[in-house]
Amino acid sequence: MKLLLVFLFFSFIVSAQTPQEYGKVMVAKLASPEFYGRGYVNDGCGIAADFIESKFKEYGLKAYNGNYKQEFSFDVNTFPTVVEMSIDGIELVTGKEFVVSPISGSSKGKYSLMWIDSTNFPKIIEDMKSMRMGGSTAFIFDHKGITDKELLGKFNEFKYYLTSIGPVITIEEEKFTWSVGRQSVKNTMVSVLRTKVSKDIEEVSFNIQQKLEKDYEVANVIGYIEGKCKKESIVISAHYDHLGMMGQKVYFPGANDNASGTSMLLYLAKYYATHQPKHNIVFMSFAGEEAGILGSKYYTEHPLFPLEKIKFLTNLDLAGTGDEGITVVNATLHKKQFKKLGKINIKENYLEKVKLRGPAANSDHYFFTQKGVPAFFIYTNGGIKAYHDVYDKSETLPLTEFNDYSQLLIDFFNKL
Ligand SMILES: [Zn+2]
Repeated sequence: MKLLLVFLFFSFIVSAQTPQEYGKVMVAKLASPEFYGRGYVNDGCGIAADFIESKFKEYGLKAYNGNYKQEFSFDVNTFPTVVEMSIDGIELVTGKEFVVSPISGSSKGKYSLMWIDSTNFPKIIEDMKSMRMGGSTAFIFDHKGITDKELLGKFNEFKYYLTSIGPVITIEEEKFTWSVGRQSVKNTMVSVLRTKVSKDIEEVSFNIQQKLEKDYEVANVIGYIEGKCKKESIVISAHYDHLGMMGQKVYFPGANDNASGTSMLLYLAKYYATHQPKHNIVFMSFAGEEAGILGSKYYTEHPLFPLEKIKFLTNLDLAGTGDEGITVVNATLHKKQFKKLGKINIKENYLEKVKLRGPAANSDHYFFTQKGVPAFFIYTNGGIKAYHDVYDKSETLPLTEFNDYSQLLIDFFNKL
């Protein structure tokens, strides 16, 4: 008997995983190499969608029309094979010392360099008119010292024009912020760290293979839990897609953006599966956010139940820190709900701060707001600063406030 009790006690400890422990396992999984950065190379996005679907099934969520997936497609620019660059024979580290532009085309070969900066820019424009460019010149742009907005505009315009002639290099001071492109220019476009370039470079070489995928198929993954009162629904949303891969060697893990929000969504799905809510709770895992909030846009154009039946939507993106609390986008639109959230937080002493912010078109809540659905977008503040780069890894993402944050959300949803 005693032994049995001891056994039961320990099995209780093993199974009683905190939200943070659950989150860490989930973020590590979603941000691992097997998901290829949840983008458009090696079917990363599709693998992530299958994984989320399997979790919805495991937790017993219901599906609309017998299908968790809502498919749609868009054109997307990809780098499925090689992304290499060297300067005077020295290879740069892809993703860390240089990145390819999201709208880059392909280039392969060796090039001499033409340096374009504030000192020679106007003259070069004049010269270009009479110059016949060969196929072996790359153009390097140095923005330093150009502060005049109009001139900077012209500088950038000229840069895009030159992509039709040869590869274009932009000098970046500190850090890269990558994204997803949906079209492409003719030649390669890259950004290189200033520490890697100098005016006496003799030769650069590229081996960059780009492919514009037409009508690439992705899917929103959606499931729900029936509430005691089935008339209205609370929606919890989070995008699961990220930036994918830059060639076969480099992937963008997207731990904070948005394996963290996806993990919070999955945690809440698991929680509500055993704690029946008052209202229906619908879990929407959106695709295509990084490509221009496309998944949520598609959903609002093809809703699975009337949008008017959404009592409130909470979109979770960047849920991985919280040292300095959270920010609530649309707080100024929904003062009553914001007050409620703030009150719970103070009473229970969950987070350092619940900050107010006005409307912004910066994540998946946006098109719902446009259609009149009351919605918040919440993100965490403080802690690590990795964003849209190869450093946004699960190993360094602390999920500092995951326990309190999840409890705050649950208390809030239960009071809506
Ligand atoms: Zn995001």
